Amino acid sequence: MRPGSEALAAAAIEAIERCRGEREFLAAIGALYREADAVIARAGCDCRACGRCCRFDRMDHRLFAGAGEIAYLLQCPPPPEGIRGPLRCPYLIEPHCRARGYRPLGCRTHFCYPPSAVQDAQDAYEPFHRRLQALHEQFSLPYAYVELTGALAALGG
Ligand code: SF4
Ligand code: SF4
Repeated sequence: MRPGSEALAAAAIEAIERCRGEREFLAAIGALYREADAVIARAGCDCRACGRCCRFDRMDHRLFAGAGEIAYLLQCPPPPEGIRGPLRCPYLIEPHCRARGYRPLGCRTHFCYPPSAVQDAQDAYEPFHRRLQALHEQFSLPYAYVELTGALAALGG
């Protein structure tokens, strides 16, 4: 059993694996991300790329993502030097993310600056998350909502 897989239900792993082979579905996720990025860019958010918010082992927040989002992220192989383990995202080579084009919606909507725009970016999460969820139904794929680092560990990412 791979580290972390015991923490993730078999149904969730199966949902992610099913999503991984669906090219049209993954392309639809990419299009939705581009739309979300445009909305967030209009909010005027800025990231100073310190990597602090990605260190889940040091922060009290956790990042959850849908099955299709994990499948989308895994199109980008984690770098060999990435640190695997509970609450460590293997794509973080501090301070930078090595999967920026593939990162989940939760990563795209989290900003610190300027304070006036941070809420606008957070508010974009729910409507786009609902649409991501609906894509699974549209493509007849199972949905699961999982903690990112546990899912990547279970899938060997
Ligand atoms: S969102 Fe904030 S904490 Fe996260 S990398 Fe950017 S500046 Fe750092
Ligand atoms: S995918 Fe990138 S932005 Fe998201 S948690 Fe991992 S390193 Fe951070």
